[in-house]
Amino acid sequence: MHTSHPGASPAPGTLHVVATPIGNLGDLSARALETLKTVHAICAEDTRHTRQLLAHFGLERPLLALHQHNEDAQAQQLVTRLLAGESLALVSDAGTPLVSDPGFRLVRAARAAGIRVSPVPGACAAISALSVAGVPSDRFVFEGFLPAKASARRERLSRLAGEPRTLIFYESAHRIEESLEDLVAAFGADRRAVVARELTKLFETVLDDTLGGLHARVTADANQRKGEFVVIVEGAGDDADASIAEGRRLYAKLTEYLKPSQAAKLAAELSGAPRKALYGAEE
Ligand code: SAM
Repeated sequence: MHTSHPGASPAPGTLHVVATPIGNLGDLSARALETLKTVHAICAEDTRHTRQLLAHFGLERPLLALHQHNEDAQAQQLVTRLLAGESLALVSDAGTPLVSDPGFRLVRAARAAGIRVSPVPGACAAISALSVAGVPSDRFVFEGFLPAKASARRERLSRLAGEPRTLIFYESAHRIEESLEDLVAAFGADRRAVVARELTKLFETVLDDTLGGLHARVTADANQRKGEFVVIVEGAGDDADASIAEGRRLYAKLTEYLKPSQAAKLAAELSGAPRKALYGAEE
């Protein structure tokens, strides 16, 4: 608590960035609850959603909408309130704010204004999935959602094919099958991966297999296409894997201009991958 004198400006408040559950409400931490109880207001991605969360815990606090469409405009006003001494919490619909969720602009504006920004850590789907995937977790890259447009998605994946670190993607029910298909095409059917679905919820499922195997299982069973997904793909293991991945990327690009046999020859030469691993590998 700070003391203030009449006429003196109050000490600035704190912006608390609070993680909320990704399914199981038992995952809201005691400190998150205490923070949400004591702040002046809560900035929420969807106020109806957060109101329900608060109601479950018997809380009622003023809610302010902060989503991708108004974040730029709202950030400055929220900073003004923080500077005037109010404490605010930032939450998103699920998990950790700013992780494929709004909040970056507000946090940046608050930090630029010298306001204390303090985390109340908790659930995050990417980290939860990584913690149970059984893939190398010492170095990883979070890629969030792949582009919705097929051509942009394939382009993104072809750039990632040689990445040696474990890759983490978010995916939705209506694109999981297509994305797995594109992952097979870009990384090869044999790369090991994990599909983590509905974590912390009733139908939690963690499938580990090759990308080809996962694609087949998800295609064969409609239940495996329901809910929310994290896809974790092992990195391109060694130099041979990395050069094949790079060769495939080049081959895919070069076939836009050359005959497949010429494209394969050139891609093999440039990447060091065996030509037979490229030519027809996408079929
Ligand atoms: N901020 C959140 C976090 O910390 O994980 C992520 C928000 S992002 C808009 C929502 C995506 O996260 C979903 O489409 C899915 O890919 C992933 N996700 C969220 N909850 C999940 C869960 N319970 N199981 C698996 N994936 C989940």
